[in-house]
Amino acid sequence: MLTGKVAIVTGAGRGIGREIALALAADGATVIVNYNGSKEAADETVSQITADGGTAEAVQCNVSDFAASEAFVKKVLEKYKKVDILVNNAGVTRDNLIMRMSEEDYDAVLDTNLKGAFNMIKHLSRSFIKQRSGKIINISSVSGIRGNAGQSNYSASKAGLIGLTKSVAKELASRGINVNAVAPGLIDTDMTRALSDDAKKQLAASIPMGKIGSPSDVAKLVLFLAGEGSDYITGQVISVDGGLAI
Ligand code: NDP
Repeated sequence: MLTGKVAIVTGAGRGIGREIALALAADGATVIVNYNGSKEAADETVSQITADGGTAEAVQCNVSDFAASEAFVKKVLEKYKKVDILVNNAGVTRDNLIMRMSEEDYDAVLDTNLKGAFNMIKHLSRSFIKQRSGKIINISSVSGIRGNAGQSNYSASKAGLIGLTKSVAKELASRGINVNAVAPGLIDTDMTRALSDDAKKQLAASIPMGKIGSPSDVAKLVLFLAGEGSDYITGQVISVDGGLAI
Protein backbone atom coordinates (compact mmCIF):
# COMPACT_ATOMS: atom_id res chain seq x y z
CA MET A 1 0.00 0.00 0.00
CA LEU A 2 1.09 3.58 -0.68
CA THR A 3 -0.49 4.98 2.47
CA GLY A 4 1.53 7.97 3.72
CA LYS A 5 3.27 8.46 0.36
CA VAL A 6 3.04 11.68 -1.65
CA ALA A 7 2.95 11.41 -5.45
CA ILE A 8 3.16 13.98 -8.23
CA VAL A 9 1.63 12.93 -11.55
CA THR A 10 2.21 15.41 -14.38
CA GLY A 11 -0.60 15.84 -16.91
CA ALA A 12 -3.05 14.02 -14.64
CA GLY A 13 -6.26 15.78 -15.65
CA ARG A 14 -6.88 13.54 -18.63
CA GLY A 15 -6.04 10.23 -20.27
CA ILE A 16 -3.31 7.97 -18.94
CA GLY A 17 -2.24 10.51 -16.30
CA ARG A 18 -5.72 10.63 -14.78
CA GLU A 19 -5.86 6.83 -14.57
CA ILE A 20 -2.42 6.77 -12.91
CA ALA A 21 -3.54 9.39 -10.38
CA LEU A 22 -6.68 7.37 -9.59
CA ALA A 23 -4.68 4.14 -9.17
CA LEU A 24 -2.06 5.69 -6.85
CA ALA A 25 -4.75 7.42 -4.77
CA ALA A 26 -6.82 4.22 -4.51
CA ASP A 27 -3.71 2.56 -3.08
CA GLY A 28 -3.45 5.24 -0.38
CA ALA A 29 -1.09 7.87 -1.82
CA THR A 30 -1.80 11.59 -1.59
CA VAL A 31 -1.73 12.70 -5.23
CA ILE A 32 -0.75 16.06 -6.68
CA VAL A 33 -2.73 16.20 -9.92
CA ASN A 34 -0.70 18.45 -12.20
CA TYR A 35 -2.25 20.05 -15.28
CA ASN A 36 -1.28 22.73 -17.75
CA GLY A 37 -4.42 23.96 -19.54
CA SER A 38 -7.18 21.56 -18.46
CA LYS A 39 -8.22 22.92 -15.06
CA GLU A 40 -11.73 21.47 -15.20
CA ALA A 41 -10.44 18.02 -16.07
CA ALA A 42 -7.90 18.16 -13.25
CA ASP A 43 -10.60 19.25 -10.79
CA GLU A 44 -12.69 16.30 -12.00
CA THR A 45 -9.77 13.90 -11.35
CA VAL A 46 -9.49 15.32 -7.81
CA SER A 47 -13.27 15.00 -7.27
CA GLN A 48 -13.18 11.35 -8.36
CA ILE A 49 -10.34 10.66 -5.91
CA THR A 50 -11.96 12.42 -2.98
CA ALA A 51 -15.35 10.79 -3.71
CA ASP A 52 -13.58 7.44 -3.33
CA GLY A 53 -12.11 8.52 0.03
CA GLY A 54 -8.65 9.50 -1.26
CA THR A 55 -6.61 12.68 -0.99
CA ALA A 56 -5.58 14.84 -3.95
CA GLU A 57 -4.97 18.40 -5.03
CA ALA A 58 -4.86 19.92 -8.52
CA VAL A 59 -1.86 22.17 -9.20
CA GLN A 60 -1.24 24.07 -12.44
CA CYS A 61 2.24 24.05 -13.95
CA ASN A 62 3.62 24.03 -17.46
CA VAL A 63 6.35 21.45 -16.92
CA SER A 64 8.32 22.61 -19.95
CA ASP A 65 9.03 25.88 -18.10
CA PHE A 66 12.16 25.47 -15.94
CA ALA A 67 11.35 28.26 -13.47
CA ALA A 68 7.65 27.36 -13.22
CA SER A 69 8.45 23.70 -12.46
CA GLU A 70 10.95 24.81 -9.81
CA ALA A 71 8.24 26.93 -8.16
CA PHE A 72 5.75 24.04 -8.47
CA VAL A 73 8.11 21.60 -6.72
CA LYS A 74 8.90 24.16 -4.02
CA LYS A 75 5.21 24.75 -3.35
CA VAL A 76 4.49 21.02 -3.04
CA LEU A 77 7.48 20.40 -0.76
CA GLU A 78 6.50 23.34 1.48
CA LYS A 79 2.99 22.00 1.90
CA TYR A 80 3.51 18.22 1.98
CA LYS A 81 7.13 18.18 3.33
CA LYS A 82 8.18 15.41 0.92
CA VAL A 83 7.52 13.72 -2.41
CA ASP A 84 7.94 9.93 -2.67
CA ILE A 85 6.75 9.26 -6.22
CA LEU A 86 7.16 11.31 -9.40
CA VAL A 87 5.39 10.21 -12.56
CA ASN A 88 6.46 12.21 -15.63
CA ASN A 89 3.42 11.59 -17.80
CA ALA A 90 2.80 14.99 -19.47
CA GLY A 91 3.20 14.67 -23.21
CA VAL A 92 2.14 16.13 -26.54
CA THR A 93 2.31 15.18 -30.22
CA ARG A 94 2.79 17.46 -33.21
CA ASP A 95 3.10 14.88 -35.97
CA ASN A 96 4.43 15.59 -39.44
CA LEU A 97 6.88 14.19 -41.95
CA ILE A 98 10.40 15.47 -41.39
CA MET A 99 10.35 17.57 -44.58
CA ARG A 100 7.25 19.40 -43.39
CA MET A 101 8.04 19.57 -39.69
CA SER A 102 8.46 23.11 -38.40
CA GLU A 103 11.08 24.11 -35.87
CA GLU A 104 8.24 25.16 -33.54
CA ASP A 105 6.67 21.69 -33.67
CA TYR A 106 10.01 20.04 -33.02
CA ASP A 107 10.80 22.32 -30.08
CA ALA A 108 7.32 22.15 -28.54
CA VAL A 109 7.38 18.36 -28.37
CA LEU A 110 10.94 18.12 -27.06
CA ASP A 111 10.28 20.88 -24.50
CA THR A 112 7.25 19.18 -22.97
CA ASN A 113 8.07 15.50 -23.29
CA LEU A 114 11.80 15.50 -22.54
CA LYS A 115 12.73 18.79 -20.93
CA GLY A 116 9.57 18.64 -18.80
CA ALA A 117 10.76 15.37 -17.27
CA PHE A 118 14.28 16.78 -16.82
CA ASN A 119 12.86 19.85 -15.07
CA MET A 120 10.78 17.82 -12.63
CA ILE A 121 13.53 15.29 -11.85
CA LYS A 122 16.15 18.00 -11.43
CA HIS A 123 14.06 20.10 -9.07
CA LEU A 124 13.05 17.08 -6.96
CA SER A 125 16.43 15.34 -6.94
CA ARG A 126 17.78 17.14 -3.87
CA SER A 127 14.74 16.15 -1.82
CA PHE A 128 14.85 12.53 -3.07
CA ILE A 129 18.57 12.29 -2.26
CA LYS A 130 18.09 13.76 1.21
CA GLN A 131 15.35 11.29 2.11
CA ARG A 132 17.33 8.43 0.51
CA SER A 133 14.27 7.05 -1.25
CA GLY A 134 12.03 7.79 -4.19
CA LYS A 135 10.38 6.32 -7.24
CA ILE A 136 10.66 8.12 -10.56
CA ILE A 137 8.60 6.78 -13.44
CA ASN A 138 8.90 8.31 -16.91
CA ILE A 139 6.22 7.61 -19.51
CA SER A 140 8.08 6.91 -22.74
CA SER A 141 6.51 5.19 -25.78
CA VAL A 142 6.88 2.36 -28.26
CA SER A 143 7.78 5.19 -30.69
CA GLY A 144 10.87 5.88 -28.60
CA ILE A 145 11.96 2.26 -28.99
CA ARG A 146 11.06 1.58 -32.64
CA GLY A 147 10.71 5.04 -34.16
CA ASN A 148 7.61 5.99 -36.14
CA ALA A 149 7.22 7.68 -39.52
CA GLY A 150 5.63 11.10 -39.02
CA GLN A 151 6.74 11.29 -35.41
CA SER A 152 10.44 12.13 -35.54
CA ASN A 153 10.06 14.84 -32.89
CA TYR A 154 7.91 12.65 -30.63
CA SER A 155 10.10 9.55 -31.11
CA ALA A 156 13.24 11.57 -30.38
CA SER A 157 11.68 12.92 -27.18
CA LYS A 158 10.59 9.45 -26.06
CA ALA A 159 13.97 7.87 -26.91
CA GLY A 160 15.56 10.77 -25.05
CA LEU A 161 13.45 9.89 -22.01
CA ILE A 162 14.93 6.39 -22.10
CA GLY A 163 18.47 7.83 -22.01
CA LEU A 164 17.45 10.20 -19.23
CA THR A 165 15.93 7.29 -17.27
CA LYS A 166 19.02 5.10 -17.53
CA SER A 167 21.48 7.90 -16.69
CA VAL A 168 19.54 9.20 -13.70
CA ALA A 169 19.02 5.59 -12.53
CA LYS A 170 22.80 5.15 -12.44
CA GLU A 171 23.30 8.48 -10.63
CA LEU A 172 20.67 7.87 -7.96
CA ALA A 173 20.75 4.09 -7.43
CA SER A 174 23.10 4.27 -4.43
CA ARG A 175 20.65 6.65 -2.70
CA GLY A 176 17.78 4.17 -2.79
CA ILE A 177 16.00 5.89 -5.67
CA ASN A 178 14.46 3.83 -8.47
CA VAL A 179 14.13 5.36 -11.93
CA ASN A 180 12.24 3.44 -14.58
CA ALA A 181 10.45 4.08 -17.86
CA VAL A 182 7.16 2.71 -19.10
CA ALA A 183 6.68 2.39 -22.85
CA PRO A 184 2.99 2.20 -23.76
CA GLY A 185 1.91 1.07 -27.20
CA LEU A 186 -1.38 2.27 -28.64
CA ILE A 187 -3.65 3.40 -25.79
CA ASP A 188 -7.20 4.73 -26.11
CA THR A 189 -7.00 8.43 -25.09
CA ASP A 190 -7.56 11.89 -26.63
CA MET A 191 -4.06 11.56 -28.14
CA THR A 192 -5.01 8.51 -30.22
CA ARG A 193 -8.69 9.40 -30.72
CA ALA A 194 -7.44 11.90 -33.28
CA LEU A 195 -6.44 8.97 -35.53
CA SER A 196 -8.90 7.88 -38.22
CA ASP A 197 -10.81 4.61 -37.70
CA ASP A 198 -8.90 3.13 -40.64
CA ALA A 199 -5.53 4.05 -39.15
CA LYS A 200 -6.60 2.59 -35.79
CA LYS A 201 -7.75 -0.65 -37.44
CA GLN A 202 -4.43 -0.98 -39.25
CA LEU A 203 -2.48 -0.28 -36.08
CA ALA A 204 -4.54 -2.73 -34.03
CA ALA A 205 -3.84 -5.39 -36.66
CA SER A 206 -0.11 -4.94 -36.06
CA ILE A 207 -0.50 -5.53 -32.30
CA PRO A 208 0.07 -9.22 -31.45
CA MET A 209 -2.76 -9.08 -28.90
CA GLY A 210 -4.98 -7.59 -31.62
CA LYS A 211 -6.42 -4.70 -29.63
CA ILE A 212 -5.71 -1.18 -28.43
CA GLY A 213 -4.82 -0.83 -24.73
CA SER A 214 -6.61 1.21 -22.08
CA PRO A 215 -5.18 3.82 -19.70
CA SER A 216 -5.69 1.38 -16.83
CA ASP A 217 -3.34 -1.12 -18.51
CA VAL A 218 -0.61 1.52 -18.12
CA ALA A 219 -1.72 2.62 -14.64
CA LYS A 220 -1.39 -0.93 -13.26
CA LEU A 221 2.28 -1.07 -14.27
CA VAL A 222 2.97 2.41 -12.89
CA LEU A 223 1.31 1.39 -9.60
CA PHE A 224 3.66 -1.59 -9.38
CA LEU A 225 6.73 0.56 -10.14
CA ALA A 226 5.63 3.11 -7.50
CA GLY A 227 5.44 0.47 -4.79
CA GLU A 228 7.95 -1.66 -2.90
CA GLY A 229 7.59 -4.47 -5.46
CA SER A 230 10.03 -2.50 -7.62
CA ASP A 231 12.66 -1.90 -4.92
CA TYR A 232 15.35 -3.86 -6.83
CA ILE A 233 14.36 -2.65 -10.31
CA THR A 234 15.99 0.44 -11.82
CA GLY A 235 16.93 1.83 -15.22
CA GLN A 236 14.43 -0.40 -17.00
CA VAL A 237 12.10 0.31 -19.90
CA ILE A 238 8.99 -1.80 -19.55
CA SER A 239 6.58 -2.04 -22.46
CA VAL A 240 2.83 -2.21 -21.95
CA ASP A 241 1.74 -2.60 -25.53
CA GLY A 242 0.09 -5.94 -26.25
CA GLY A 243 3.35 -7.08 -27.82
CA LEU A 244 3.67 -4.22 -30.34
CA ALA A 245 7.39 -3.65 -29.70
CA ILE A 246 8.36 -7.32 -30.11
P1 NDP B 1 -3.51 13.08 -23.61
O1 NDP B 1 -3.34 13.91 -24.82
O2 NDP B 1 -4.81 12.42 -23.33
O3 NDP B 1 -3.07 13.91 -22.31
C1 NDP B 1 -1.87 14.61 -22.29
C2 NDP B 1 -1.67 15.14 -20.90
O4 NDP B 1 -0.41 15.85 -20.85
C3 NDP B 1 -2.75 16.12 -20.50
O5 NDP B 1 -3.14 15.87 -19.17
C4 NDP B 1 -2.05 17.48 -20.60
O6 NDP B 1 -2.51 18.42 -19.66
C5 NDP B 1 -0.63 17.10 -20.23
N1 NDP B 1 0.32 18.10 -20.69
C6 NDP B 1 0.64 18.43 -21.96
N2 NDP B 1 1.55 19.43 -21.97
C7 NDP B 1 1.80 19.75 -20.68
C8 NDP B 1 2.65 20.68 -20.03
N3 NDP B 1 3.44 21.51 -20.74
N4 NDP B 1 2.66 20.72 -18.67
C9 NDP B 1 1.88 19.90 -17.94
N5 NDP B 1 1.05 18.98 -18.50
C10 NDP B 1 1.02 18.91 -19.85
O7 NDP B 1 -2.35 11.98 -23.72
P2 NDP B 1 -2.24 10.50 -23.15
O8 NDP B 1 -2.94 10.37 -21.86
O9 NDP B 1 -2.51 9.58 -24.25
O10 NDP B 1 -0.65 10.46 -22.92
C11 NDP B 1 -0.03 10.49 -21.63
C12 NDP B 1 1.44 10.12 -21.82
O11 NDP B 1 1.54 8.81 -22.37
C13 NDP B 1 2.17 11.06 -22.78
O12 NDP B 1 3.49 11.26 -22.33
C14 NDP B 1 2.17 10.26 -24.08
O13 NDP B 1 3.24 10.62 -24.91
C15 NDP B 1 2.33 8.84 -23.54
N6 NDP B 1 1.92 7.81 -24.46
C16 NDP B 1 0.63 7.74 -24.92
C17 NDP B 1 0.28 6.74 -25.80
C18 NDP B 1 -1.11 6.58 -26.34
O14 NDP B 1 -1.30 5.72 -27.21
N7 NDP B 1 -2.09 7.34 -25.88
C19 NDP B 1 1.25 5.74 -26.28
C20 NDP B 1 2.56 5.92 -25.73
C21 NDP B 1 2.87 6.90 -24.85
P3 NDP B 1 -3.44 19.69 -20.08
O15 NDP B 1 -4.62 19.12 -20.81
O16 NDP B 1 -3.75 20.32 -18.77
O17 NDP B 1 -2.57 20.55 -20.96
